[in-house]
Amino acid sequence: METLAFQSEARQLLQLMIHSIYSNKDTFLRELVSNASDALDKLRLESFRDKDMKVDVDDLHIVIESDPAERTLTVRDNGIGMTREDVVRLIGTIAKSGTAEFLRQLKDQQSSTSDLIGQFGIGFYSSFMVADKVTLVTRFPHAEKGVRWESTGESTYTIEDVDDAPQGTSVTLHLKPSDDEDRLPDYTEPAKIREIVKRYSDFITWPVRLGGEEINSRKALWARPASEVTEEEYSEFYRHISHDWNAPLETIRMQAEGTFEYQALLFLPTQAPMDLFMRDGKRGVQLYVKRVFIMDDCAELMPEYLRFVKGVVDAADLSLNVSREILQQDRQIQLMRRRLVKKVLSSIKSLQSSRPDDYAKFWSEVGAALKEGLLSDHDNRDAILEVCSFASTHSEDSLTTLADYVSRMKEGQEHIYFMTGDSRTAVEHSPHMEALRAKGFEVLILTDPIDEMWVDAVPAFDGKPFQSVAKGQVDLETEEEKSANEAKAAEFGDLLTWMASQLEENVKEVRLSSRLTTSPACVVGDAHDITPTLEKMYKAMGQ
Ligand code: ADP
Ligand code: MG
Repeated sequence: METLAFQSEARQLLQLMIHSIYSNKDTFLRELVSNASDALDKLRLESFRDKDMKVDVDDLHIVIESDPAERTLTVRDNGIGMTREDVVRLIGTIAKSGTAEFLRQLKDQQSSTSDLIGQFGIGFYSSFMVADKVTLVTRFPHAEKGVRWESTGESTYTIEDVDDAPQGTSVTLHLKPSDDEDRLPDYTEPAKIREIVKRYSDFITWPVRLGGEEINSRKALWARPASEVTEEEYSEFYRHISHDWNAPLETIRMQAEGTFEYQALLFLPTQAPMDLFMRDGKRGVQLYVKRVFIMDDCAELMPEYLRFVKGVVDAADLSLNVSREILQQDRQIQLMRRRLVKKVLSSIKSLQSSRPDDYAKFWSEVGAALKEGLLSDHDNRDAILEVCSFASTHSEDSLTTLADYVSRMKEGQEHIYFMTGDSRTAVEHSPHMEALRAKGFEVLILTDPIDEMWVDAVPAFDGKPFQSVAKGQVDLETEEEKSANEAKAAEFGDLLTWMASQLEENVKEVRLSSRLTTSPACVVGDAHDITPTLEKMYKAMGQ
């Protein structure tokens, strides 16, 4: 037997669980059932791939057992199990992206701990909210021996090989005493267990058994009539697949019949997933074939810019051992993806008109990701532009849609003016803004790094071209102003030539400007030059 130490981040999280003030402790059971369900999904998939695997997959299930006398509760599955290395890596450390961020926020103490636990999704460690010792026994199909892991959740755990472990994993919780100050409910009581499973895990596709009875209905939510599914059921399902503890902002259902049948159940989040802007961030759509889980993170069904959309697509006409390669080439899949994207965008659009406050919050969470679609998804560019919001000189504290900008355009104004920059203040103090301000033209203030990119790629909205106020000649002059300016340019010709020769090393050209009202001079980019912010970005990337 070996005694090993938890990695320090894992230790921090465990302490949090042990001393958790999180009020809803029942959820530990949901986490264990959810892990068991994932393990069964993985075993079944593996058996599709590896026909020679000598594992019985005919009766995959989850069993819950309790022993009131010993005060133990066991959740057992005959799924994929774990090797010794898996146990050390998966249970002894925290590999999940977002953890570091989570712990940092915790240090900041800005939000209460229970809120943060809620956002993080707590997994296996949540056992320690209700148990003072946890024993896990597991065996991976190809491993000769099983592994026994045990810990009280304080800094170390023990791990040893065992000869007689059955296929899969069992997790036994040694429950805290019931007179504990937490006043825990009696989790060994069948009625309590049944109630929790029903509430949180009813839709789990594998049988969950208690005392020989199956206690979950196993009904896939997306296959049930929409009118029969409650909000609460959607929320629990969303939590199961997204690991986000907030309720979803919007639930989207889709159904297609005919030659290529499928059902989709998708969710928009209330809050950005922690890994939204991380390199290894996941997409959120799972693929099922006739109720059978096939894969997570299905890139073929949802483009990267919609990676915050979570949910399930269940296609009736695919083979159970469909691979990513096949999906990439399948024309039906491409059609399906196109329809899913349109549906998501139209749902955001209706959110915008029917629940403006929720939309505003949603936009502030995921808008920067959504705008990536302006570059990558030409077909839906207009639909994406319609659901975008931008800061603008029109209002200090609320964003504007492009449609609203256009409705406020002045007579004779042909362009949608914008300026990119690091911050609102930087943009507002830029000399480039002076003439537009003097003329009373509204200017969009674009401060996300992605804005630098899409403004070069997207020519117009609703027939109105986008125009940077910092580039080329901003055409603000009337005919008389133009001829007056030309006369002036002739008058100052010599001065301009002299200045240009003095500044030869630094500028391409020196010309008279009509865009300034109070500043004496400003530097402008050529129409096709990259902007200073973009230049900084390229430099930062080492180009
Ligand atoms: P998550 O489920 O979000 O990955 P958890 O903390 O719940 O996080 O579980 C950590 C990992 O431990 C899982 O990803 C899985 O690889 C492994 N694991 C947990 N429970 C089981 C189980 N019953 N069978 C096999 N592997 C498991
Ligand atoms: Mg889990």
